[in-house]
Amino acid sequence: MSTQDKSERTIYLGCMDFRLPGPFDCRNAGGATMALRKEIEMLFAQHPETTALDITVHRDCGGIKAAATILAGKDLSISTESLALFEEKFVKYFRGHGFEGALTDRQTMERMEEFNRDLQESQARGILKRLGREDVQVNVLLASVPTGLHADTVIVVMGELPDKDNEIAKLSGVSKGNAYVIMATTVEEVSPSLELAVKVMGKKSIVFIPSSELERKRADELCKKPYMSGIVPKIIPGYRVKIK
Ligand SMILES: [Zn+2]
Repeated sequence: MSTQDKSERTIYLGCMDFRLPGPFDCRNAGGATMALRKEIEMLFAQHPETTALDITVHRDCGGIKAAATILAGKDLSISTESLALFEEKFVKYFRGHGFEGALTDRQTMERMEEFNRDLQESQARGILKRLGREDVQVNVLLASVPTGLHADTVIVVMGELPDKDNEIAKLSGVSKGNAYVIMATTVEEVSPSLELAVKVMGKKSIVFIPSSELERKRADELCKKPYMSGIVPKIIPGYRVKIK
């Protein structure tokens, strides 16, 4: 289906923020590479022709704000399960770098955003080293985004869709750039970002797009999480699209 040259490929990771244009292969809160490690390993196994890994993080990031809140010693009101995963895959790397107990002001955020850019680069290099793929080029962009914009919907893409951006828009009815998009495979990779979106950012419109029957089961599992209570998610199977 793809007409892309098979001799070269770039894998794109990024934050789930609606203001980032993409393209993306996987996304979560903060563009946390370590939380997408299994996903990255899977993508490299599927696409060994990959020559570059592009990661987009950004200014005014909700994931960084959540991390800053934890580092400031304040309660984030998320489950101990998500808190533990968020700590393990993201927050702990900021510890010991002057962010603990700091004010969650603009200046701290900016320092954390810059730290995050370097952090994601070194973590991506670590993952590639373990994969024996030190030949892969790593590019990390700290993007500026417009402020004062809002998006109400969170789209959770479980697994791969054939033509991600177009299929997401077509299936969800939400045009590109108007929704947060979490894009991963395992429940552990998706859940902390989804809980941050629901509990911390107050998003109530959740759309799941599973790309297979297996991903559909994973979406059902996520819908049963306590933080999803009171939310009526839409589940739109993406797998019918594949068989057209
Ligand atoms: Zn972000």
